[in-house]
Amino acid sequence: MQQKPQPARADPDIPARLASIVGEAQVLTSEDDVAPYCREPRDLWHGRPAAVVRPATTGEVSAILAFAHAARVAIVPQGGNTGLVGAQVPDESGAEVVLSLERMRAIRDIDPDGATMIAEAGAVLEELHAAAEEAGLFFPLSLGAQGSCRIGGNIATNAGGTGVLAYGNTRDLVLGLEVVLADGRVWNGLRRLRKDNTGYDLKHLFIGSEGTLGVVTAAALRLFPAPKGRAVAIAATQSPAEALTLFRRFSAAAGANLTGFELMPRIGMEFIVKHLEGARDPLGDAYPWYALIEISSGRSEEEAASLMQATLEEAFEAEELLDAALATSLAQASEFWRMRHGLSEVQRPEGGSIKHDVSVPVAKVPEFLERASAAVTERIAGARPVPFGHLGDGNIHFNVSQPVGADKAAFLARWDEVAAIVHGIVMELSGSISAEHGIGRLKRELLKEVKSEVELDMMRAIKRAFDPNNILSPGRML
Ligand code: ZN
Repeated sequence: MQQKPQPARADPDIPARLASIVGEAQVLTSEDDVAPYCREPRDLWHGRPAAVVRPATTGEVSAILAFAHAARVAIVPQGGNTGLVGAQVPDESGAEVVLSLERMRAIRDIDPDGATMIAEAGAVLEELHAAAEEAGLFFPLSLGAQGSCRIGGNIATNAGGTGVLAYGNTRDLVLGLEVVLADGRVWNGLRRLRKDNTGYDLKHLFIGSEGTLGVVTAAALRLFPAPKGRAVAIAATQSPAEALTLFRRFSAAAGANLTGFELMPRIGMEFIVKHLEGARDPLGDAYPWYALIEISSGRSEEEAASLMQATLEEAFEAEELLDAALATSLAQASEFWRMRHGLSEVQRPEGGSIKHDVSVPVAKVPEFLERASAAVTERIAGARPVPFGHLGDGNIHFNVSQPVGADKAAFLARWDEVAAIVHGIVMELSGSISAEHGIGRLKRELLKEVKSEVELDMMRAIKRAFDPNNILSPGRML
């Protein structure tokens, strides 16, 4: 059963009703003012909202949703607008209201003894990193968009990123939530307990719900002891299979202190050197594959560096790597990470890119890469796979750049065809068609193909229970 938002056309009274809650200045309606809220990073969707409303408090969010629930106005919550599946931008109907959390960015509290922090949904991820650091602690969620994505959006999408290997994804970092329900009621679930078996763990329903079940306004987050030292290296390998062997070696040597293990192909390094300002290849020669490896230490820089050095040497002797560059300064270490995080951006100047965010069991990553690359280049001659990602957790961004000189639009028009090939292989390997980006609008139809009727029924039942009027992000995910 597909639920539809009730009013399919714009109601001219909506902006005035919203203004009575937040004040006129916080209700945007002119084309110029709403433009930044209507485009998303991949430029696949362009919407037009009835209004953009920017509340400053949980109370205002509550009043907005109470009004929307009664008037059956569709609400699309938005954080930093960095999502990659189109969930956070309004559709073309002109009937949806974008609810931006950007003004709710306070860090309400940090508890150094309990290692927790309470932050509002609009706090930018990098601000949380800085606040934790100031308290002598560490918040490990780390991704390319961290300078602009906001924690509410990270929670709504259960964001992953490069820290998942050691610290888990967003779901593992949330202790409690404050959520405004579809009808405007506020659930204060900002608990900071590590143990709490008192019935259904409702916070987990909202984490990863992509704005379809409620609006997260604040979260209690787990913090960790700040590592005292980090060693970062880029190692070259012959193949993904060899990189996997290398991963196993580092995992055994460093255990929980292996805090990063990222895979990137030669073409990714070429794109970085060509398009990322100031970047250069850290190794003298060209190699087929690269692993970015990070080891942390709770004790010292020296401990991290010596474990990295020793493990690289063992791997070299065992012929599991071809060459390696160990960062010799903090600046170089962060430069290696900047290159890794720049990998999405540097594909842009190379033309159209058909993107997949998939995961397979870690041991199957080499087989997946081999089969998917062969299948895609067989279908489109000259297509250039640029697969990269989080080898340590089996999540690969299987992006395919257009053939050199090909027509961008014609290439992108084959998105579904290419995705069907890639996702087919993923399913054969018992993987997931969305590892960390979510479903949104991009993969809504695909969801029906990969979930059983039983699972979809449970999801729809939850949606109906939490949002009976279907006002929250209608048409996203389900
Ligand atoms: Zn990723």
